[in-house]
Amino acid sequence: SGPLVDVRDLSVVFRKRRTLAAPRIVRAVNDISFHIDQGETFGLVGESGSGKSTTGRALLKLVPAAAGSVTVAGHDVTRLRGKALRTARRSMQMVFQDPYSSLDPSSTVAASIAEPLIVHEKLSGRAARERVHELIEMVGLRASYADRYPYEFSGGQRQRLAIARAIALNPGFVVCDEAVSALDVSTQNQVINLLERLRAEFGLTYLFIAHDLAIVRHISHRVGVMYLGRIVETGPAERVYTAPAHPYTRALLSAIPDPRRKSERIVLEGDLPDPARPPVGCPFQTRCGHVMDICRQRVPEPTVVEGGGEVSCHLQTSGPTLAGAPLSALP
Ligand code: SF4
Ligand code: MG
Repeated sequence: SGPLVDVRDLSVVFRKRRTLAAPRIVRAVNDISFHIDQGETFGLVGESGSGKSTTGRALLKLVPAAAGSVTVAGHDVTRLRGKALRTARRSMQMVFQDPYSSLDPSSTVAASIAEPLIVHEKLSGRAARERVHELIEMVGLRASYADRYPYEFSGGQRQRLAIARAIALNPGFVVCDEAVSALDVSTQNQVINLLERLRAEFGLTYLFIAHDLAIVRHISHRVGVMYLGRIVETGPAERVYTAPAHPYTRALLSAIPDPRRKSERIVLEGDLPDPARPPVGCPFQTRCGHVMDICRQRVPEPTVVEGGGEVSCHLQTSGPTLAGAPLSALP
């Protein structure tokens, strides 16, 4: 059933002006392309600072695109303005790591969840209240909790309530930005099960952003790996996790403890390079154990990987074949 979200050559640029200095131009998202099929969950992973959140925000036009297009349900979101943008926004929602981004600490949760219903659907107080009770039950809580304040809930419950608000207007597309990252592991699993149930029930499509690869694996149909503003690998979750093709993906995965894996942990040396001064050529060259001359000259183009997806690495065309090998078989 085709892509709901189609991102082509998207770049997002920030100009950070510091006193008396020339503005630093940071290409937070650098020429990325990917798509998300209707009803699919696309996991976006990478270290903090890699551009994941900016990508999510650009998809909802919460930050402007410097180049490229973002087509959601047939409309190029980057070109929408005014009323058309407000209408499109109703069908695209975001769930943040911090539930207080959407729940007002000084209001009852009913008031926070009802707000979009009153603003966008012009529901009366009574109709909004009935819908709020329904939404609170949909996320696995009691309707009678509606008149409580956010501080009266656990972190997991607060995140359920933030999800209730996000789905209030029946969105087709939801960006979850580190939505479970602040929760303990068992609560994470419960909230992920909830998101999965809502997706199946309402045909939702998710962009699921997380720095923790273990979280993303089980909820995602396909994943994309970001590094320094670029997507370096995409593919079906199973293929990327069992046979990662990019040296960065392999390093990230080798950091997840797995007693069945025999290979050594690949330690990523150093930090992300300064995004205002990215290296010429492959963005990962300063931390890659396989760097070749060509890596310092040209940005690798995406090439198809056996088992599905694409990888952007010169090893695919100019080096010994490592791509597609099981993680356990790698040096
Ligand atoms: Fe490493 Fe070169 Fe591949 Fe970049 S292109 S990941 S530097 S081998
Ligand atoms: Mg982030």
